[in-house]
Amino acid sequence: MAPIARWDREEWMWTMRNVVAILAAVLFASILSGVQVFREAALGRNGFSASDAVRLLGYGTALILIWITAWRAAAQIPATGAVPRLLHEGIPPVVTLLVLSGAYGLIHSFLTDRAVLVVSWVFVLLLLATAVWLGLVLYTNAEALVLGAAAIERRISEALKRRAHACAKCGEPNSEEAKYCTSCGTSLTQSAGSRDDRVPAMTEKKRPPTDATRAA
Ligand SMILES: [Zn+2]
Repeated sequence: MAPIARWDREEWMWTMRNVVAILAAVLFASILSGVQVFREAALGRNGFSASDAVRLLGYGTALILIWITAWRAAAQIPATGAVPRLLHEGIPPVVTLLVLSGAYGLIHSFLTDRAVLVVSWVFVLLLLATAVWLGLVLYTNAEALVLGAAAIERRISEALKRRAHACAKCGEPNSEEAKYCTSCGTSLTQSAGSRDDRVPAMTEKKRPPTDATRAA
């Protein structure tokens, strides 16, 4: 499988800076919105306080940063193979779904009843459009999903095969070709030989009755 992206420290350093900025925004919002003076500083007559404004600003900034970071990271993943292309094209719709859901949860307490009716429908349409976009990406990248599933299946069957060739003495899983245990050095050919012997022995046992029935 082609490498998903060259993990060059310089090339991806900006993601760490963005993650720090996102955490800082969330932290400031959660700390300041809990401070008494912010909760008691009323804004207008709607029952909102400076605390709500700080929360909207901090979490809103974090959501926007998450969205920008994901888009930039997706753009930086070269669409050279099937799986990298799936990430390159699939990350933007996935993060858009998450950010849209988060954004609605954030703003809905600030909306009047009439505004909720309009804004909720706008978000429903946006979410449906994003879901269709994600569906199209998955459809056009079905090859990558199949390749990914095949790679996982191959890895599992290899692990099972190694377990089937486990050392009789110490239990260490070994590859089919191994003659000696990689852990304790015990010869593995003896157990493999006896297993090979069993197969012809069974077919030989089965053969005489068939001959006998044919003769009779
Ligand atoms: Zn062993």
